[in-house]
Amino acid sequence: MKFVIVSKGDERSNKIKATMKQYLLEFGLEYDDEKPELCISVGGDGTFLEAFHRYVHCLKSTAFIGVHTGHLGFYADWTPNEVEKLIIEIAKTPFQIVEYPLLEVIIRPQSGEKEERFLALNESMIKTSEGSVVFDVEIKGEHFETFRGDGLCISTPSGSTAYNKALGGGIIHPSIEAIQLTEMASINNRVFRTIGSPLILPSHHTCLLKPMVEKSFLISIDHFTANFNNVKSIQCRVAKERVRFARFRPFPFWHRVRESFVSDDKHGG
Ligand code: NAP
Ligand code: MN
Repeated sequence: MKFVIVSKGDERSNKIKATMKQYLLEFGLEYDDEKPELCISVGGDGTFLEAFHRYVHCLKSTAFIGVHTGHLGFYADWTPNEVEKLIIEIAKTPFQIVEYPLLEVIIRPQSGEKEERFLALNESMIKTSEGSVVFDVEIKGEHFETFRGDGLCISTPSGSTAYNKALGGGIIHPSIEAIQLTEMASINNRVFRTIGSPLILPSHHTCLLKPMVEKSFLISIDHFTANFNNVKSIQCRVAKERVRFARFRPFPFWHRVRESFVSDDKHGG
């Protein structure tokens, strides 16, 4: 099997990467950073996001797994103490695959230029560098609201514990094929009105944002942010692609949620 290891780059992560690489090579696996079947990230959830985007063009053939060198991560859920166990599991067992939904974002320019398509593992955020964003929000081809405010966050179920949670969005189990729209400081008064609650859209509903005045936006896809000018529309929906995780043991989503946000005391309390 072909594998690759993406390290956060700090000394501890690099050391774990070196150990894992050496042992897996000794077990007869092949190191391949072009088209790996298994991509191991060593770092945090941020490192996992980076690894995901590095191999986003070959999601069908690449499975991901994360070792965390900081606190427990949502994507990086193996501890450095378990690395030996993980190496043996990778070398010996065919692994199970668990798939999570992704967000597709298509940014269409006013004219001329080609549209751009992105996949997000956590979320996309649409903001502006100055003042408020103003756009019409269409859901499934129909006008829903005119949004004015700091911006909108559109997240995947596995991204629902990231920025979305800080905005008051709900936590969605990743077995649910959906995207969630959360508002960032919407302006609500007698003139402007938005729904005010997070919206959860099923996989067959598309959300289209159409700029009203200013056509230039700061759009983030996970940890990257870029400025887009002359935007005609931003289309968001559940992607047809999915991210594949290599699973060697169960670690249910709600356990990760509890251990990250409520208590890491496994015995309750
Ligand atoms: P970062 O500033 O290091 O990320 C902020 C925190 O979010 C880190 O603790 C990161 O974990 C954690 N995180 C990332 N994905 C998560 C997920 N799916 N569920 C729960 N926590 C998650 O930046 P980064 O490492 O490049 O990650 C980018 C992501 O951070 C963005 O996609 C955004 O969702 C999130 N973020 C959240 C806030 C906020 O909650 N206010 C602010 C900025 C960014 P690690 O430390 O393990 O990397
Ligand atoms: Mn980080």
